[in-house]
Amino acid sequence: MLLTTSVGSLPKPEYLTKARSQVRRGELGPEQLRALEEQATREWITIQDELGIDIIVDGEQYRGDMVAYFAESLTGFKQSELVRSYGNRYYRKPIIVGPIARPRPITVGWWRFAQRLTSRPVKGMLTGPYTVMDWSFNEYYPSRRATTLAIAKVIREEARDLERAGAQYIQVDEPAISTRPEEMDLAIEALGLVTHGLTAKTITHICYGDFKAIGPKLQRLPVDQIDLEFANRNFELLDFFKGKRFPKEVGLGVVDVHSHRTESRDEVVAGLRKALQVFQPEQLYVDPDCGLKTRTPQEAIAKLKVLVEATRAVRDELRTDGTAHHR
Ligand SMILES: [Zn+2]
Repeated sequence: MLLTTSVGSLPKPEYLTKARSQVRRGELGPEQLRALEEQATREWITIQDELGIDIIVDGEQYRGDMVAYFAESLTGFKQSELVRSYGNRYYRKPIIVGPIARPRPITVGWWRFAQRLTSRPVKGMLTGPYTVMDWSFNEYYPSRRATTLAIAKVIREEARDLERAGAQYIQVDEPAISTRPEEMDLAIEALGLVTHGLTAKTITHICYGDFKAIGPKLQRLPVDQIDLEFANRNFELLDFFKGKRFPKEVGLGVVDVHSHRTESRDEVVAGLRKALQVFQPEQLYVDPDCGLKTRTPQEAIAKLKVLVEATRAVRDELRTDGTAHHR
């Protein structure tokens, strides 16, 4: 119970960030970059193993943007355009210009690479069809629904391949859901296409948004586990679940990924205890609020360390309680 994991991304070490900009300037070849991505993946797996994280992630050292990474590996997408997000920040937004297809597996090679490095299970990590649609321009399909369902078909193929390769956990992230609650039904329909028939445990991560609007539909998301941010709102989100029997597992974000500060063990323990007043221990998985990629490697490691220590302390409390009740 209370298995620990990460949401997905982990920070890139400085040598990898440097190498990625060298590749953009044409100073470094793809093979050299690949070797560094493998090195960084190896390092992150060793770190997670040593910290005692139960379900490992590959840390997405080889990914840039979570949507562009998939778009670049699929046919039907055009080289993305630079779009201004806010201020002087630009990002690449993929453009759909033809029928979407998956010529070959996208993440399976990296998943196998990571899984060979550890005896603990490695999670398969996919970006959900609704988010890929919402964060792309569409110049081909007649509607947002048609686009989303076409993407769902290829993400489903990828999920099946991950499962065939041996993935016991498959996470399909849908951060865009929380920004457009009015399209939640479409997101649910598309996610259902991806997860239907899978035997692996399925998870979706949703970033905090308009929770009042999406909250009531959360339990209809066709996955075994919903992973949410709790720490950065001081666990107030728990109030939503109070007094209900939420029928799914919950990934409990217990450290804030937006803050440089490392939480104390006591703070995380307190958060876990609060959550245990609302959820059953068997229902809970413990992780950071969101991907840790915006933190420094040192900050990320410190946060993961405290997460593991606090979870172990609470597990011990639960075991002691359990024994006491049986007496
Ligand atoms: Zn998030």
